[in-house]
Amino acid sequence: MNTSINISDKVKQIEPSKTLAISAKAKKLKAKGKDIIDFSIGEPDFDTPDYIKKGAIEGLERGYTRYTPVAGLDILREEVAKKFTNENNIMSLADNILISPGGKFSIYAALISILNPGDEVLIPAPFWTSYPEMVKLADGKPIIVETSENYGNKINIDLLNKYLTEKTKMLILTNPSNPTGIIYDRSLLEKIAKWACENNIYILSDELYDKLVYGQEHVSIASLNDDVYKRTITINGMSKAYAMTGWRIGFANGPIGIIKKMTSAQSHITSNATSISQYASYIALRDREKNKGILTNMYKQFEKRKNRIVDILDKEKRLTYIKPEGAFYIMINVSSYFGLSHKGKIVEDANSLSEILLDEKYVAITPGEAFGNKNYLRMSYANSIENIEEGLKRILDLLRELK
Ligand code: PLP
Repeated sequence: MNTSINISDKVKQIEPSKTLAISAKAKKLKAKGKDIIDFSIGEPDFDTPDYIKKGAIEGLERGYTRYTPVAGLDILREEVAKKFTNENNIMSLADNILISPGGKFSIYAALISILNPGDEVLIPAPFWTSYPEMVKLADGKPIIVETSENYGNKINIDLLNKYLTEKTKMLILTNPSNPTGIIYDRSLLEKIAKWACENNIYILSDELYDKLVYGQEHVSIASLNDDVYKRTITINGMSKAYAMTGWRIGFANGPIGIIKKMTSAQSHITSNATSISQYASYIALRDREKNKGILTNMYKQFEKRKNRIVDILDKEKRLTYIKPEGAFYIMINVSSYFGLSHKGKIVEDANSLSEILLDEKYVAITPGEAFGNKNYLRMSYANSIENIEEGLKRILDLLRELK
């Protein structure tokens, strides 16, 4: 009998999440009692604010325990449309909104609704780890656009033209970016929007971190003009801005025709996002002005941490980093240490450095390969100032011990 597993060619090409591997190892060591400092986590360390938890209880009591419309509760879609209109300057109605189980699914719904087999999707590197795999699952072809430190790790029009082919169908923009923390300013977004319109390219603008922007304005590319709006799907959700990662609520905003198709696709895959989470998200958005203090305090804490990290790293002449402008990540270039060793273990790239850091100093930090660049470590600062200071001390100690 042939017992080999005969799985699909499509799934065979999908890599397991590299970001989860390091946190899984860190969790094991923690369970063994090791004093782990974890900089690999991609979620806010704050608990969901109480007024939102109470909202979930209210939802349960009011009977929000059944299927909802596939595209989401009308009251939530209306609040989300108001959020996009008022906060992102994208004039929206409830019909422009699809509520999904997490921003991740919102992205996937957009990809499967827009791509045909073989369509090319431009993904600027460093990129969020799931995009290339999701594009492959949607039968598209991920094309990694290598950015350079000289241009602030951002795309520009010359670079986009270099990768443009007859098959290019979409550009993924992450603004602010996970993993780099960079932000695209209005003038660069205007150029990208013009390029996309001239070349008939869709834009998937992932703006999950739009509330975490330090000292500058966040501009949504879809807000720039009607032409670019018609070819843009803007993705957002509750995970990062409201500390609601486990509740799994994401949203997509776009022209009604595309949103309808994405809704049909979702109707056959997951149906609606969880009813109780939707109700809690409705309360979270409806009452955000009343609870502004709690929310802005979270955002301010992230900025304080970012400033502390930058202060510490600026004193290290041998390290460079991508200047973080938003989100809660910083990419640190450790390539000047490659070739050195620690207790006989050679630092070949950021992967081996991250392994040595975990084994020797109990610091979990994600190697840049997960995001398309082996020269960097990605540090998440969803962690306390005390842990940030102690963890960075351990990292710098190890770097000094390398021979
Ligand atoms: N987009 C980016 C850039 C992210 O970092 C994440 C989560 O880490 C997501 C999308 C998906 O978030 P969620 O599915 O929790 O809404």
